[in-house]
Amino acid sequence: MDLFAQISADTPSALSRADGLGTLKAFLPLAGKHYAAERNFDKGRGQHLSVSWLSAYIRRRLITETEILQAVQARHNFSSSEKFISEVFWRTYFKGWLEMRPSIWSQWLTEMPAGLADSRYLQACSGKTDIACFNEWAAELRETGYLHNHARMWFASIWIFTLELPWQWGAAFFMQWLRDGDPASNTLSWRWVAGLHSRGKHYLACAENIEKFTQNRFAPYGALNEGAMSLTGAEPPLAVEPHWPALPARKRYVLVIHGEDCHPESWTLAGAPEAVIVLPSWMGNLVLDSQNRLRDRGLDRLEDTALADTAGRAQAHFDCPVHLLASSEGGAMDEMDIAMLARQISALASQYDVQNMTTSYLPVGAWRQNFATLADCLAPENIHIDQVIREYDRSCWPYAKRGFFPFKENIPRWLRDFS
Ligand SMILES: Cc1cc2nc3c(=O)[nH]c(=O)nc-3n(C[C@H](O)[C@H](O)[C@H](O)COP(=O)(O)OP(=O)(O)OC[C@H]3O[C@@H](n4cnc5c(N)ncnc54)[C@H](O)[C@@H]3O)c2cc1C
Repeated sequence: MDLFAQISADTPSALSRADGLGTLKAFLPLAGKHYAAERNFDKGRGQHLSVSWLSAYIRRRLITETEILQAVQARHNFSSSEKFISEVFWRTYFKGWLEMRPSIWSQWLTEMPAGLADSRYLQACSGKTDIACFNEWAAELRETGYLHNHARMWFASIWIFTLELPWQWGAAFFMQWLRDGDPASNTLSWRWVAGLHSRGKHYLACAENIEKFTQNRFAPYGALNEGAMSLTGAEPPLAVEPHWPALPARKRYVLVIHGEDCHPESWTLAGAPEAVIVLPSWMGNLVLDSQNRLRDRGLDRLEDTALADTAGRAQAHFDCPVHLLASSEGGAMDEMDIAMLARQISALASQYDVQNMTTSYLPVGAWRQNFATLADCLAPENIHIDQVIREYDRSCWPYAKRGFFPFKENIPRWLRDFS
């Protein structure tokens, strides 16, 4: 078995930058014409050999978009790798789009928990429907934390238009299990399938397409609603650009790392930190109600491995003390836990005699919400936290005000700027 086949057959139990770079290296030869021709085929578990398998690493920025784009450009010309490059920019587009319309995320968070105890939701998630392919994808997602992009599209479409379940519940099921679960890519993809993103343009799964792209593994003729109308809903709010942070003034500070960006080596910082604090992964999860969290605790444990890997690299890179704050396995992850974390951080600030902390920009999502509570707890201690934003995000995100196609026109310029 070649290296890439081996990588895609495994579901790694830990995430590290070295493994992300290894996956990228093994995939690179396939990122050109092969990807463009083969990427839509879902050959089943362990056989996802024509897509990169990089999403769990990119999601946490164990490897960055710019590194991937540079590596692809060094290996392939633009015309053969355009398809792969534009998929990477789909992520960038969704991140920017949500960043300028955060209420889409908060509204989903309030609408979604009501469905989680509904018997129709539970039946669909446990793969107890009459649609064999849907049942298999539900099981693959729960058991491996991954679904091929085409399967995600078919699954979401069947969920919304054949099973007639709310898209918000389906997005919750994905967030519960996806190893790459991302507030922007997930919420907005579900809205895109429903016809709420490009309004009126929905994605309808059809048996013929499923038969072709699963290579005859499934052929759900007669089982799908192939004539459904798009969902209708309110116009999305107008895009409002937030205040993108400026580089903080040079002063003594402690660097704080969270799971949204695990490559502090490439952050633009004003001088060297006195020490580094790495936050625990539960800060990237949310308690929804007494029964449910935003994501399975197994994903917290996976993210802790990424954070531990980052702590090790930070030690070598910044050559200063690094404090990896422990994850509380049984913790409630509520405001009391965050207050306790704030006390630990405040004690470290005193130890290093600093009142300034710097972290990377927190995009819309659970990490940002919990971090805001943490910052509120630290404010009375006169601890001030600056955020630094990557030049890539600052440059690209503001162009996500409309659809992907006008956004995409900028790709050649961004490739020049970031190569
Ligand atoms: C309903 C639905 C939900 C989704 N939820 C998520 C999610 O929570 N997190 C997530 O990262 N992606 C999500 N996607 C997008 C896409 O399915 C995954 O990014 C992709 O399948 C990851 O596998 P890969 O790394 O092998 O992809 P590749 O095809 O190798 O793509 C390379 C990278 O480009 C980005 N990318 C590719 N396709 C898309 C896309 N359509 N939208 C946004 N970014 C893309 C990802 O970062 C991916 O790692 C969702 C798509 C749908 C239809």
